[in-house]
Amino acid sequence: MQTTPPKALSHVPPAPIPFFDQSASFQEHWEGIRKHLDDVLDNGKFSHGAKVAELEDRLAAWTGAGHVVAVNSGTDALILLLRAAGLEPGDEVIVPAYSFIATASSVVLAGGVPVFADIEEHGHGLDPRAAAAVVTPRTAMVMPVHLFDRMAAMRGLREVARRHGLTLVEDSAEAVGMRMDGVHAGLHGAGGVLSFFPAKTLGGIGDGGAVLTDDESVAETVRMLCHHGRGGRTLANFPGISNATVVPGRNSKMDDVQAAVLLAKLTTLDADIARRAELAERYDARLREVPGVRGVPGAHPPPLGSNRVSYVQLLHVEDRDALAAHLAAQGIGTETYYPLPLHLQPCFAHLGHRRGDFPRAEAACATALALPLYPDLHDDHVDRVCDEIERFYERRPR
Ligand SMILES: *Cc1c(COP(=O)(O)O)cnc(C)c1O
Repeated sequence: MQTTPPKALSHVPPAPIPFFDQSASFQEHWEGIRKHLDDVLDNGKFSHGAKVAELEDRLAAWTGAGHVVAVNSGTDALILLLRAAGLEPGDEVIVPAYSFIATASSVVLAGGVPVFADIEEHGHGLDPRAAAAVVTPRTAMVMPVHLFDRMAAMRGLREVARRHGLTLVEDSAEAVGMRMDGVHAGLHGAGGVLSFFPAKTLGGIGDGGAVLTDDESVAETVRMLCHHGRGGRTLANFPGISNATVVPGRNSKMDDVQAAVLLAKLTTLDADIARRAELAERYDARLREVPGVRGVPGAHPPPLGSNRVSYVQLLHVEDRDALAAHLAAQGIGTETYYPLPLHLQPCFAHLGHRRGDFPRAEAACATALALPLYPDLHDDHVDRVCDEIERFYERRPR
């Protein structure tokens, strides 16, 4: 544990607080990782091995998903899910204007067209009314995103999908552990995804992802597409041929080495989520009344019937860039989630949007600042971050 240095030493700069760090917990996981890695080495299967299947089984049990297909990133999981859920070239998919870029780029890479809609007034999820307003005859799907610490307004969004006959898929890349009405994120429609990017709630030692679905044919299609388009049920039409390629596929499989790491980390996922909750509550309590902080995440409850799982501690603040610079000067890492709304990203300029089209998404981008939040963080780290935020706003000229 870190303690406050005695007065005489207080000129020694305190240790930096990185935005993300898992070096201490990784040491604790090392024994478990070694055990799973030994299995991989013993049978020499570094690809198509039993570790990936073992991880898929454990994740299915943990989430309650009927099927889990582990792949090489959350982004590829989204692309494969969209295709497996039936996206046809040129189909429109409604996505929130505020999210990580992969939400919209995956639609393009799957052959579809992203159609943006604004987010809710309180929270960061797709607004059901805004989504309903952009439905056209070409709309095939709606893909809400569960950001930071809570699910989107799924009851309303399920209703929009039902009323307009749209397939519902979820970008649940950040949402491991989030549940609504007892159902894990990603399982409220045709399917969802997980990302195991190192900084995510269940992070690996490199990229990784998974598709979650209760639909066996979606799972089978993802399995086929992530392995060069080989195999799957359609092979029944080619009796006697074991390696026929049914459709041109990609190679998006997860490595067994990555599965070995994730199997070890899965053993502390519940404890990690509980620790994240403690840290988030500590931040909320300390920052709730600080002038300049416009909203702590805990100020609004998550949607009815759902839980809060803090992947990121996201604040909305005044003078965001100056605050981030002040914290950086104190050795405190932050991130801007997300710096630019999707409709204003250069890669979507051809869609013809301009500033002002989605005011809530734009406002969120202008004021959002994510603070360090991960199980290795200590309580006194949170206190130091909060002290520095308070100090910044006290000194700020008004
Ligand atoms: C992390 C993330 C992704 C992409 O996952 P990768 O594993 O980094 O490819 C997609 N959508 C959202 C909302 C994410 O946070």
